[in-house]
Amino acid sequence: MAEMISIVVPCLNEQEVLRETNRRLLAVLEQLPLKFEIVYVDDGSSDATPDILREFQALDERIRVVRFSRNFGHQLAITAGLEHASGDAVAILDADLQDPPEVLADFVAKWMDGFDVVYGVRAEREGETAFKRGTAKLFYRLMGKLSDTEIPVDTGDFRLMSRQVVDALLAMPERDRFVRGMVSWLGFSQAAIPYRREARAAGVTKFSLFKMMRFATDGVVSFSTLPLRLATWVGFAASGIAILGILITVIERLLGVEGLVKGWASLLVAILFLGGVQLICMGIIGEYVGRIYGESKRRPLYVVRERMGFQARCAATEMTGRARATAAGKR
Ligand code: UDP
Ligand code: MG
Repeated sequence: MAEMISIVVPCLNEQEVLRETNRRLLAVLEQLPLKFEIVYVDDGSSDATPDILREFQALDERIRVVRFSRNFGHQLAITAGLEHASGDAVAILDADLQDPPEVLADFVAKWMDGFDVVYGVRAEREGETAFKRGTAKLFYRLMGKLSDTEIPVDTGDFRLMSRQVVDALLAMPERDRFVRGMVSWLGFSQAAIPYRREARAAGVTKFSLFKMMRFATDGVVSFSTLPLRLATWVGFAASGIAILGILITVIERLLGVEGLVKGWASLLVAILFLGGVQLICMGIIGEYVGRIYGESKRRPLYVVRERMGFQARCAATEMTGRARATAAGKR
C-alpha cells in the first residue's frame, strides 16, 4: 500500500480564503505519488468556516474536520490536528496561503530522501508590516541566545514530520506548546527548505499584538530558565551597588566630609528603582509559577465539539488530547 501524507490546517475565521486554500492544496496533493488526507481544525470560528469545512468533507472523504468547542489557539489547533492525523508523514500548513502548498512537494521529496523533519525557512516575507517582520526577527535571535535548544531562525510551523517524530511530539504532555521549539528539541534529522512567505490571500491576521506577545513569552518560558537567573543577577548587581553606597556613606561620615549625594530626591529615586526591579523579578517568577499551576490542573489540552470524516477511526480518536498523548508515551 502506498504511503500516506496528512496535512494539518488550523483555521480560525478563514471563510474568505478557505475555498482557495482547499483548491490549491488538492491540486498539489493530487500530483504527489502518495495517498493523502487533509485534517482541518476549526479553532472555534464564529464565521462560516465550520459550514465550509462541512461542505468540503461531504464532497471528499479524504478531508477530515475537527471542531473545537471554542478558541483554544493556534498551537493547540496544530496539536489536535497532529493527534487526529494518521499519515506516515504529517505536514502543517496555515489556512491563509501564506505558506504556499506548492512547497509541500519539496518537503515530500526531502522526506523521501530520508529526513525526519523538513521545515520551511522564510527567505522572504510578503505583505507583513515592518513591525511584525522586525519583532519576529528580533524574537528568533533572542530565542537563540536564551535557549539551550537550537531553534532555527525565521521558521514557523510550516513543516513536515515523519510518523516517528509526530508520535514523539505527541508524547510530550506539556500545555504551553511552542511546537516549533518542541520539534527542535526532539532532534532527528532535519532539513530546511527556503521559501517565499506570501501575503495573506484574504482576510486579516488572527494574531493581535497581545496574542503575539503571549506566544513569544510562551516560547521563551518553555525553552529557557535564563530569565529566572537574570533576576538573580540583577539582585546581585543591586546589592553590590547598595554595599558600595553604604561604604561610601560610612567613610564620608568618618572623614566628616559633605556627602556626594544630597537630599530626599536621590533617596526616592533609589527606592523607586529598587521597587521596580523587585516587581519585575516577581513578575518573571510569576510567569513560571503560573505555568506550573496550569500544568498541575491537568486539564485536557482542548475540547472537541464535533469530528467529521473519521468514521472508521472514531474509536481511536475519541479520547481527549491529554489521554491520547499519555497513551502515545506509554507505547
Ligand atoms: N489560527 C488558529 N487559531 C488562532 C489563531 C490563528 O487556528 O487562535 C490559525 C489561522 O486561521 C491561520 C494560522 O493559524 O490558519 C495562522 O494565523 P494568522 O495567519 O492569523 O497569523 P499570522 O500569519 O498573521 O502570524
Ligand atoms: Mg498568516
